[in-house]
Amino acid sequence: MPTPEQMVLGANRILVLCHTSPDGDGIGALAAMGHILRALGKQATLACADPVPREYRFMPGTDAIVQRPEGEFDLVISLDSSDLPRLGEAYDAAKLAHVPLLNIDHHITNLNFGTVNWVEPNSASTCQLVLRLADGLGVEITPEIATCLLSGIVMDTRGFTTPNTDLAALRAAERLVAAGANISDIARKLLVQRPFSMTKLWGDVLAQAHLEDGVVWASLPASLMAQSDASANGLSGLVAFLAGVEEARVAVLFRERNDGRVEVSLRSVPGVDVSGVALAMGGGGHPQAAGFTLAEPLADVEAKTLAAVRALLKGSGQADG
Ligand code: AMP
Ligand code: MN
Ligand code: MN
Repeated sequence: MPTPEQMVLGANRILVLCHTSPDGDGIGALAAMGHILRALGKQATLACADPVPREYRFMPGTDAIVQRPEGEFDLVISLDSSDLPRLGEAYDAAKLAHVPLLNIDHHITNLNFGTVNWVEPNSASTCQLVLRLADGLGVEITPEIATCLLSGIVMDTRGFTTPNTDLAALRAAERLVAAGANISDIARKLLVQRPFSMTKLWGDVLAQAHLEDGVVWASLPASLMAQSDASANGLSGLVAFLAGVEEARVAVLFRERNDGRVEVSLRSVPGVDVSGVALAMGGGGHPQAAGFTLAEPLADVEAKTLAAVRALLKGSGQADG
């Protein structure tokens, strides 16, 4: 099997993809890879099935990200996605099935769908893997690349506060700051700032949150969403806030989309692994942060998910607090 470096060096027209409903790690890795590939003289097309959320557009190079890539490619690179369907319509299987695929990811639930799979569940972010790839390829870390990659680390560790924060994440961050990334500016844009409409939406959702048997949960019906310009980034902050409830071991946020599908976000304390529940529902994630999407009515998704979480907590007993 070729190494990831050999795959990149052997290709010329490269399609780089990240998952739908993108977060800062997916978009940061995607934009950084664009800069890295162009530094090597490669043709890079960057795509994500959903538009880049406004909060991530400060990362240099995100304006080049398209939703439906066109052209011929001799390599596809998937970033931060644990399965092929999660790439959405940006991956046209009819056209790309015969093109080699390099799968770079850090989800413990990754289905190893690539020709070559570089999956490190112990890495706090996919952006750290992209940094190592840049090093392996001899590409200099410019301030633009550093800003994109540090954004992924800050996002996936929520500013170095989640249990996946480790020495490797801190050391990568130190290098990226030295290379020109502004860490407080990135943290403010990704984690602190939100529109007034989103702040009000948090209030509406929190006002009807429930706490039952160690599970805190809340729902966002599509009707509530429609009244604000709320985006998914603000909602990842909301589920993190819910996960701060002292009495809870698991936090769940249900979000009904306009197309009727329901996105479910799960968070847990160390010792409770929610990635298996997400995987069983067709999604994926990490032990302490996972998610899935179901095309079922909101009330049914709530009932099904809460039953699965209750069974998980019963199984994990009182192993920890
Ligand atoms: P979220 O709750 O959307 O912030 O996602 C938490 C974690 O679960 C992230 O690592 C996501 O990549 C993963 N995740 C969320 N939804 C899905 C899904 N539908 N399929 C696979 N992984 C998901
Ligand atoms: Mn992601
Ligand atoms: Mn990630």
